[in-house]
Amino acid sequence: MPRYEVTIEKDACDGIFACLTRDPRFVEGADGLAKIDPGADPVYDCEGSVDDDAERVVATFDDDRLEEARQAATACPTDAIVVEEVDG
Ligand code: SF4
Repeated sequence: MPRYEVTIEKDACDGIFACLTRDPRFVEGADGLAKIDPGADPVYDCEGSVDDDAERVVATFDDDRLEEARQAATACPTDAIVVEEVDG
């Protein structure tokens, strides 16, 4: 399984939420911007760690859903989402 990091740059996020429809791990946060919640997917159990600071949300996953995260990144009109494979 690929290990990968999903980053949302808060400055770039406009709260358009195209990402949510591509990957249910993206959720709307209280601030109106996208967040990542590994447990938000109602269909699949998903484990991952999330760091959330003033500038960005960075989530690390180790599963077979890299392509979904990539689709969310592609759907984001402001290119706020970056998906990168990382070494295990
Ligand atoms: S699609 Fe992009 S701009 Fe819209 S909420 Fe998701 S990350 Fe933010």
